[in-house]
Amino acid sequence: MARYVDSKCKLCRREGVKLFLKGSRCDTVKCSVVKRKSIPGQKSRRLKKLSEYGIHFREKQKLKRFYGVFERQFRNYFAKSERKEGNTGQNLLVLLERRLDNVLFHLGYGLSRSHTRQVINHGHITVNGKKVDIASFLVKAGDVIKPKNSEKCSEFVKQNVDSRKSRNLPSWLEFDDVGLEGRVLHLPTQDDVSIAIQEQLVVELCSK
Ligand code: SF4
Repeated sequence: MARYVDSKCKLCRREGVKLFLKGSRCDTVKCSVVKRKSIPGQKSRRLKKLSEYGIHFREKQKLKRFYGVFERQFRNYFAKSERKEGNTGQNLLVLLERRLDNVLFHLGYGLSRSHTRQVINHGHITVNGKKVDIASFLVKAGDVIKPKNSEKCSEFVKQNVDSRKSRNLPSWLEFDDVGLEGRVLHLPTQDDVSIAIQEQLVVELCSK
């Protein structure tokens, strides 16, 4: 499976927004987006104004990088969104938001989305009592998410949850701090997406 191995902060600096890729560091003054306003790369200062295509492309990259999704997978999400009824852009955002790694990040099971992906891949998570080790698993209304029934898993998840006490839980999710149990109350809407994105630009680019 493809993996991004370069500096994650470079991705945020390239998009000019916080993508929250590095856990607790993202909420501190050490955040590179706060410290360095320049675009990465030696020629960054010479970069010209973005073309029309560039504006559309950057919006797509921002969305992919925020959710940690690569091009092929993103194209699959887009195709799925087009097939669904309703607004394609909103369908796309809702699909990405329903990914299990994103849900676990909101619940506090990991410090970043890449961290929660690791938690899932290592088999620490159950959905409705069954082990799920696929980060792209899409949750649905009523799903109950818990750490696997072992002391080691619960302890590991509890440590992460404790270190992310200040997180904002979206209204479509519920979390029981004692039982470490998360519940999907209803499917997310576009308003639940925590990054400012012009999804129409993404749709226009991907539809070409
Ligand atoms: Fe992005 Fe976090 Fe690095 Fe800031 S600290 S640039 S939000 S990954």
